[in-house]
Amino acid sequence: GFKRAGRLDGIELSEIVQISEHAARLRAGGVDVIALSTGEPDFPTPAHVIEAAHQAALAGQTRYPATAGTPALRAAIAAEAGVEPANVIISTGAKQVLAGAFLATLDSGDEVITTAPFWTSYADMVRLAGGVPVVLDCPGEQGFKLTPAQLEAAITPRTRWLLLNTPSNPTGAIYSQAELQALGAVLEGHPHVWVISDEIYQHLAYVPFTPFVQAVPELTDRTLIVNGVSKAYSMTGWRIGWGIGPASLIKAMVAVQGQITSGACSIAQAAALAALTGPQDLLAERRAEMLARRDLVVAGLNAAGLDCELPDGAFYVFPKTPAAMPVDHEFCRYLLDSTGVALVPGRAFGTPGHLRLSFAYARQSLEEGLARIARAVAAL
Ligand code: PLP
Repeated sequence: GFKRAGRLDGIELSEIVQISEHAARLRAGGVDVIALSTGEPDFPTPAHVIEAAHQAALAGQTRYPATAGTPALRAAIAAEAGVEPANVIISTGAKQVLAGAFLATLDSGDEVITTAPFWTSYADMVRLAGGVPVVLDCPGEQGFKLTPAQLEAAITPRTRWLLLNTPSNPTGAIYSQAELQALGAVLEGHPHVWVISDEIYQHLAYVPFTPFVQAVPELTDRTLIVNGVSKAYSMTGWRIGWGIGPASLIKAMVAVQGQITSGACSIAQAAALAALTGPQDLLAERRAEMLARRDLVVAGLNAAGLDCELPDGAFYVFPKTPAAMPVDHEFCRYLLDSTGVALVPGRAFGTPGHLRLSFAYARQSLEEGLARIARAVAAL
């Protein structure tokens, strides 16, 4: 019979995808579903970006791309970051940048420190690459952020990476410049520990955002910045992300990529280039709309009796479950079955007792979703 590889032990399709599929089944069965469970902007990809992809395909950019990324896109990203193209890799989404970094650097048993709540894929990616995720609990009382003392206590000789996500999925937490510097000060004493800063929600910040290398430039030679077009430009389906880091690390990641994908889609890279070099007003317009939605959702959830903090960035809120039904996956199941509203339980992010709601949806859907959540909580 079929036998899975040992490296897949405990690794399943992400709970977020399972919930989306369950919601889709209910919808197909005629239920009026409001899925607030997916981390994807509802705005369309900008028309000029689609046009650039069309033109690139017509112009013959349809062959194998350079493994590390098209020279034009690498150069544009390098110029923006003030680095050389050799410091940049383009991959099939930020997700593949992260996976490539772990495959390129982790030996069996090497440790990656990250925080809970975390984006669901982090821990499983580390495990798939043979590493050990060291997950530090960062509750709401500390703003869902890692403290220098926690970091110091968690570092061992096996630690390879500190993996940070700012702004965070699922909490929206943003590390201030001072907070990044305090973490950087700890790392100064541990030169074997490198940093991944996943800044994919950079353009969805409602308070000042500080990139990691701006706060801690002295750690640039052991930092990998992860970013991409998915969230900022509504390009989740195009699958383009990038890493910016030391040339030695990038070279190792390119070697991995060359054996796995031969590089990201050439047409999607042309589209990403158009997004990065074209008009940028849409970033501020879309951020303003997300901010209005955030305020609507936080007010609505608190009015419904769910304890919800105001997130500083991204498009998620991470309220606590209602006291009358504290187990997160039970509440999500109850909510979906009784009202058709899909949320994701906090346990998918390593923090049970919470719920993640994505507000990357039209206000009308959010208002209807909030009304249903209020009724469901009141009925407990
Ligand atoms: N990093 C974080 C924190 C995310 O939330 C996501 C997507 O949900 C990604 C990375 C992956 O982005 P991409 O679409 O570029 O693979």
